[in-house]
Amino acid sequence: MSDHAGQSTGERPLQQSLLRGALMKCPACGVGSLFSRYLKVADHCPECGEALHHHRADDAPAYFTIVIVGHVIVSLVLAVEMAFRPPLWLHAAIWLPMTILVALAVLAPIKGMLVSLQWALLMHGFDPDYKEEIGDRLAPPSA
Ligand SMILES: [Zn+2]
Repeated sequence: MSDHAGQSTGERPLQQSLLRGALMKCPACGVGSLFSRYLKVADHCPECGEALHHHRADDAPAYFTIVIVGHVIVSLVLAVEMAFRPPLWLHAAIWLPMTILVALAVLAPIKGMLVSLQWALLMHGFDPDYKEEIGDRLAPPSA
């Protein structure tokens, strides 16, 4: 019963939003770019004007990138080690650059998905009923 009576939030299908975010496109229209630079979310969609600055990504994209890249790279390291037993310098020469490249490649799509998730679920400022919290308004006055 807590729908947004009188306010149009439009349809925000979750799967479609996540897919658009993974493609680094605006979750609302799927056309405009979600990012203005690498990892810098655009304030508004350049195509449809949807406000995108309400996101709060914090450390979540880095966290999920570490989890995903760690599982992929460690699995590959173990598979190569068991199959070929290459010297350690060769492991380092392969896996250190590979880890950096894969992390940089998946970080932006993961951040795009997290921003789109917040948009689809009306989290934070994406909710038209959202009231901005004033951090120290309730704090006691300092002596
Ligand atoms: Zn858009």
